[in-house]
Amino acid sequence: MNAAIKILLLEHDPYDLDLIARELNKLDVKFIHKTADDKSSFEKELLEFKPDIVLSDYSFPDFNGVTAFGITKELCPDIPFIIVSGTVGEQNVVEILKTGITDYVIKDKLFLLPTRIIRALKEASEIKDRKEAVNNLIQSERRLSESQAFAHFGNWELDLVTNDSFWSDETFAILGLKPNEQKASSELFMSFIHPDDLANVKETIQKHLEAPAEFSFYSKIIRNDGVLRHIYSACKFILDKTGKPLQISGIIHDVTSAKRMEEELIASNKELKTFIYKASHDLRGPLSSIIGLTTISKMDVKDDTALKYLQMISESAKKLDATLISLVQSMSIKDMSLTFEPIDFKELIKEVFAQLQFHEGTSRLKVTKTNTLKKTYTSSKMILLSVFQNMIQNAVKYQNYNQEESYLNIDISEKNGMIELIFQDNGIGIDDQFKDKIFSMYVRGTSSVEGSGLGLYIVKTGIEKLGGKISVKSESGKGTTFTILLPLETKIVS
Ligand code: ADP
Repeated sequence: MNAAIKILLLEHDPYDLDLIARELNKLDVKFIHKTADDKSSFEKELLEFKPDIVLSDYSFPDFNGVTAFGITKELCPDIPFIIVSGTVGEQNVVEILKTGITDYVIKDKLFLLPTRIIRALKEASEIKDRKEAVNNLIQSERRLSESQAFAHFGNWELDLVTNDSFWSDETFAILGLKPNEQKASSELFMSFIHPDDLANVKETIQKHLEAPAEFSFYSKIIRNDGVLRHIYSACKFILDKTGKPLQISGIIHDVTSAKRMEEELIASNKELKTFIYKASHDLRGPLSSIIGLTTISKMDVKDDTALKYLQMISESAKKLDATLISLVQSMSIKDMSLTFEPIDFKELIKEVFAQLQFHEGTSRLKVTKTNTLKKTYTSSKMILLSVFQNMIQNAVKYQNYNQEESYLNIDISEKNGMIELIFQDNGIGIDDQFKDKIFSMYVRGTSSVEGSGLGLYIVKTGIEKLGGKISVKSESGKGTTFTILLPLETKIVS
């Protein structure tokens, strides 16, 4: 943008005005100018013309150049102001320049005016840029400080060579201090760490000072007023060329409210689990009595209709019992402790079929098994039993009665250092809309067969606990294949 420079001339002598105007014509930049010859016309032009620079004579009948400069500073604070005058004496020049007036050009040397104008404008523009940069910096520091306070988030730096520390205002605030109330230092920070966590925090920091890498930790702090807060700290190093740490910097985040919410959640989760265990236990007692009584009654009752009802009661009671067992299993599988033992897959499958033999449809399902494992696989029998139970039971439940025969192929092999279990059936398949969701709790893909929607959730949770993965491929009406990958070396993922 090359807008014309606006020059305001404050001069009451027409002859001098003419001389100055002539010099201005030598400027090799575009400009426009206006003239004022007394105080009031000067003030008016400052406000209306809004000049980029003022050239002013020194003495006027009603005021002088220094007063004019004062008015300019008030009305147009950042523009340069040059006195163009006859000789005023060296002492006066010094006094004039002391007031902050940009420059002084004597009328005998008016030829200097164009270069002085350009120089003054350049300096003014540089000062303006600098002011803007400083303002922007102040603004962004203010914004950062506000957002840190808002999010309870502070940052800090420690120079490991000079031991100098910087803490942001919010770092002080999190520790219960006013900004710079005390000299920031690592010793001061450590003095706030709760005694329960101190050894651990010291050890973590020491470990990372010896082998610098990013690290983080949670700890409690006690403020000077005795208030306990929870903080999260994350730290990183700046290293020299040899890998020696020069500086450590990081953030601290006051996570007290999140921690309290987490504690409340853990407590209510525990209560919920206790309630479910207890309710399930209390319900299963009378249920097993019902199942037992219906079994005995079936021996004595001769009436066909009554027998039919007894059978229905027995089946419903068994289903309810199975649901209660699944519910407890799904609650406990995540946090139960596991034991590992060699897995005999043949025995495992036999055990499942023994349990399922009286289920409707079991005898119709043709099962083939291949096991090409060369080594003994050690894992949690409890989890694998529940996996095979649910997989086989689902293949039985969701078989397609429109097919001439239903099958389930179970394939056990080693693949890329993992155990791969494949369960492939030609059942009813799963609709695309449910495929992503069937591993979630209580999600069912069909209402045509009864179920609790917990089986696959239990399977997935158990597999993940062993560090494995499960995936599904299925085509509605054609069949379903579940692929499970488990690490060869069993480990527990908490
Ligand atoms: P449930 O069988 O009690 O409904 P699951 O968690 O075991 O609960 O299964 C969730 C859903 O996944 C089932 O409702 C069913 O729609 C679908 N599903 C699971 N296994 C199969 C399978 N082998 N063939 C077809 N659909 C299946």
